[in-house]
Amino acid sequence: MRVVICGGGVIGACTAYFLARRGIDVIVVERTEVAAAASGKAGGFLALDWCAGTPLDALARRSFQLHAALPREITADWAYQRMTAYSGFVVPDDDARRHVPSKLDWISEGVIIADRLGTPETTAIIHPRKFTSAIMSAAQRHSAELRRAQVTGLVRSADGSMVRGAEVDGALVEADAVVIAMGPWSLMAAAWVHLPAVFGQRSPSLVYYTGRDVPADALFLEYHEESGAVLTVEVFPRADGSTHITALSDQAPLPIDPAAVMPDPGEIDRLQIICERLSPVFRSERIIARQACFRPVTQDGLPLIGAVPQSEGVYVATGHSVWGILNAPATGEALAELIAEGVSSITDLTPFDLARLRPLDPSLLRSG
Ligand SMILES: Cc1cc2nc3c(=O)[nH]c(=O)nc-3n(C[C@H](O)[C@H](O)[C@H](O)COP(=O)(O)OP(=O)(O)OC[C@H]3O[C@@H](n4cnc5c(N)ncnc54)[C@H](O)[C@@H]3O)c2cc1C
Repeated sequence: MRVVICGGGVIGACTAYFLARRGIDVIVVERTEVAAAASGKAGGFLALDWCAGTPLDALARRSFQLHAALPREITADWAYQRMTAYSGFVVPDDDARRHVPSKLDWISEGVIIADRLGTPETTAIIHPRKFTSAIMSAAQRHSAELRRAQVTGLVRSADGSMVRGAEVDGALVEADAVVIAMGPWSLMAAAWVHLPAVFGQRSPSLVYYTGRDVPADALFLEYHEESGAVLTVEVFPRADGSTHITALSDQAPLPIDPAAVMPDPGEIDRLQIICERLSPVFRSERIIARQACFRPVTQDGLPLIGAVPQSEGVYVATGHSVWGILNAPATGEALAELIAEGVSSITDLTPFDLARLRPLDPSLLRSG
């Protein structure tokens, strides 16, 4: 059996790994480079039970477990570490609570820690680009092939009932199954098969080199800007000495080419002002990346994972929104099982079935 995976983000890489580990012939086609998009620019925060009470719960729990197990299975370092997570808020300069001694000694006066949200038993972090690259390399060690090229369509059998392969840079690459894992660019595939809409939501982020100055404390802080806007700022220190900070999200149009994603300079300046307010550690000379990425989102906020209706041999895995790094391993494991055995028994994929959402009208794509 041969499977072509369209997209070398964290979802494509994990699917490739779990398929290749079963001895299945895999070709990953990536237009830019592995982890070029959100999978290389995310925070990397993982939580065991933050999806409790939602349809994502089982997928998240299984994934958290796999994230803990994979470092023992694959020889590579992607900075996996357990951590504590706190919520809090930032008070204005004239607020009396400003001088209350903080529970954390590395944050500035005026950053008030309210609650502990996670402990090392329930929260962890990885470096997402290093993770995605390591999983892709592990898939390659199991004989998966990585091709740098653009998927431009799907090719079907003469009667249209089955997939024959993917059209890659205009030429057929034969396959028994094709997986669409192109993040927000999966939208393009709605012109090829019946697929519900996938949108891209952009967020800027700054990455600081903080060395050992910031311990393994993730922060989720409410921040009031002078304009009256209220934001949640997320601070994710990682074991490789980098700290990823994000806030804000906007409705910027998704560029057709993933390599053309750029941050808005105004949003980056706004984020830098916020970061400097949080801790003296976040000084401008320590910035190692000013970036933005689009997370893939669906109409109901849940991912699309499974077989595409009326297109035998075509599968999709996208729309993981803010939990794509967390949920990638269980997504890859379940999809590999579904493709190889026709059923996914470890994680129930029913909540992510495509049939729950109406397919996008392809004429909307053609009309731009
Ligand atoms: C600022 C930010 C912070 C985040 N933090 C976290 C976090 O802390 N924890 C967490 O769990 N999640 C987080 N996320 C979410 C997570 O990053 C995404 O859900 C996840 O990376 C999506 O992975 P993907 O593989 O579906 O898509 P992508 O990473 O977008 O990968 C899709 C790939 O497909 C390729 N591609 C596109 N079109 C084609 C084509 N035609 N042919 C071939 N290849 C193509 C692209 O080049 C790209 O490499 C964050 C997201 C953002 C934006």
